[in-house]
Amino acid sequence: MTILVTGGAGYIGSRTVFFLLKKGYDVVVVDNLSRGNKPAIPDGAHFVEMAIEDPAMDKVFATYRPDAVIHFAAYAYVGESNTQPLLYYCNNTAATIRFLDSMTRAGVRNIVFSSTCSLYGNPVTVPITEAEPVKPMNTYAVTKAQIEKALEDCSAAGLLNYAALRYFNAAGAAPDGSMGESHDPEPHLIPLVLMAAQNGTSVKIFGDDYPTPDGTCIRDYIHIDDLASAHILAVEKVINEKKNFVLNLGTGAGNSVKEIITRSEAISGRAVKAELAPRRPGDPAVLVADNKNAVNELGWKPQYNIEDILTHAWNWLQNKRY
Ligand code: UDP
Repeated sequence: MTILVTGGAGYIGSRTVFFLLKKGYDVVVVDNLSRGNKPAIPDGAHFVEMAIEDPAMDKVFATYRPDAVIHFAAYAYVGESNTQPLLYYCNNTAATIRFLDSMTRAGVRNIVFSSTCSLYGNPVTVPITEAEPVKPMNTYAVTKAQIEKALEDCSAAGLLNYAALRYFNAAGAAPDGSMGESHDPEPHLIPLVLMAAQNGTSVKIFGDDYPTPDGTCIRDYIHIDDLASAHILAVEKVINEKKNFVLNLGTGAGNSVKEIITRSEAISGRAVKAELAPRRPGDPAVLVADNKNAVNELGWKPQYNIEDILTHAWNWLQNKRY
């Protein structure tokens, strides 16, 4: 079986490619390297350096005839999406629509889509189930909600079957430190805190007056290897059952910004300098998943906790290779 992975040079995509290859799949990575890292693409994958909206995607589909697509390629910075909304509408929404057009004309009927918990906005009920209304608070989340809707419409028209996987906070690295997160600039809390531990620089705490026990935001951090395993189960299920799934991928446990800092100090053995900064616009106080549906539908269970996530991310930072 052949799986085409868009964004296979990215943080979560490259790790999923690694596990697909290990399981014996033939894998085609399509990535324009605008934000991905070429050295992150695992050996053994075919690599096509191309934007997903390129009309030449028709040829890629004709050449490789994939059984399914896992679609990671997207821009994913909340702050940037608010200051440059058109970048996100073009790169995430418009590009994906063109890609879906090419994919379905080629007769490829199965797709797993990277969605996000941020499309819930400020949730009414926590832990968040998939029944929570979709109320995105930033342009990034709007573009993800738009593609979920496009997939729903395409499915209703008999064009495809899909799984939309709504990730909570992707974090961690390969347990052996061989693959991990590398963004430039880096906006995410865990790498920033660990870099502060490593370099003696300081990290900003975006608000300490939220309605949480220590006043800082709580997030559900999920290990990239747990995300990768869920993608493989999801793509197999879409191929075999020809049904649609919309699933939260989180652990069901939350950690505050201050807890991440304290735990990172313990794991790294170094002090982390932190300074209080204003709230970041668009940040809900608490985002924690109810993951029962993913557990039941996929037969999946997250293997790693926050200690593992921080330990593996710290190992990666010591020997970063890209
Ligand atoms: N955060 C922070 N300082 C930073 C970066 C992030 O306090 O330098 C907070 C942010 O406000 C949020 C949490 O850490 O509450 C996780 O943010 P991140 O950007 O890692 O992921 P997001 O929740 O935006 O997907």
